[in-house]
Amino acid sequence: MSDAVQSFFGRDIPRWYFLSWLPEELGILLGIHEDFVEKTLKRGKIDLKNNVNNFFDRSLNLPEFYDDFNTNIGFAGILENRGKKDGFINFVAKLPKISMLTEKTCPRCKGTGKENNNEDCFNCCGTGKDSDVSWTKANIFSASFSLLFFVLDLFQDNTPSKNFQLMEINTIVEQGMGGGSLSGRIGAPMHRYLCGLAKKQDDIPEMTKAMKIAYKEMWRIREWDRFAFKSTLRPEGGFAAECIGNATGIHIDMQRYIKEMGGFEFTSHNVDTLLQQITLLVSLAALHDKAVSTIG
Ligand SMILES: [Zn+2]
Repeated sequence: MSDAVQSFFGRDIPRWYFLSWLPEELGILLGIHEDFVEKTLKRGKIDLKNNVNNFFDRSLNLPEFYDDFNTNIGFAGILENRGKKDGFINFVAKLPKISMLTEKTCPRCKGTGKENNNEDCFNCCGTGKDSDVSWTKANIFSASFSLLFFVLDLFQDNTPSKNFQLMEINTIVEQGMGGGSLSGRIGAPMHRYLCGLAKKQDDIPEMTKAMKIAYKEMWRIREWDRFAFKSTLRPEGGFAAECIGNATGIHIDMQRYIKEMGGFEFTSHNVDTLLQQITLLVSLAALHDKAVSTIG
């Protein structure tokens, strides 16, 4: 573990960024403390533009990165500036539509919407329509968060926020197996909260619900698929979340479990697509909201 990672554990550190799930808008809110912009970016401690150029495979053909935090930020300005509150600049990115239904008939079920066994068609999920798939917006969405998470990790000052950093997240955007992997760290305040919650329940329904809504917005789900979304909460505060895939999800990294509620790391398994990554990211945003409603 690097020094920076180690120092995140076992301490209550003033918050410098957070995520929030916006189910009405079907988007993720990223709140970034103004100190990150003023003390780190503007003083040149982190070269955002340089990271933009080095971070991603050029074959992604990403559009221009907007880096003026007074306006929209991210690739193509996908994160809309919603103004400042309590020292945090709030940015909202709407979930990308990856699969869109067309007026054409589904080639698998010929428009009936059903498989031979009468379950919803595997291809069209019961709609009977064919669909067009585009990963362009998902690439822009995920690459924007990925880069911002990376530079936010480099922040080393203390903000005046009276709330604590609950989690840190890292994501990647690559082609192929594991190309949507995500990982992160749960801080001590969140770990204490989760341990308390685990005395009352063994899952986190808010995470499950958010994932279903998100996945359905970006793709679509069959009735049967609803069971593929799960969350679990363990007695020591570790959690797991699963979505559609091959045992696809995020879970506590027990090898890097910090005892005495000092925090822990989480990692992912078989997150091959950005559809899965963004779904799991939404579950983390929902978890953050749940914790904030209790511990601030
Ligand atoms: Zn079909």
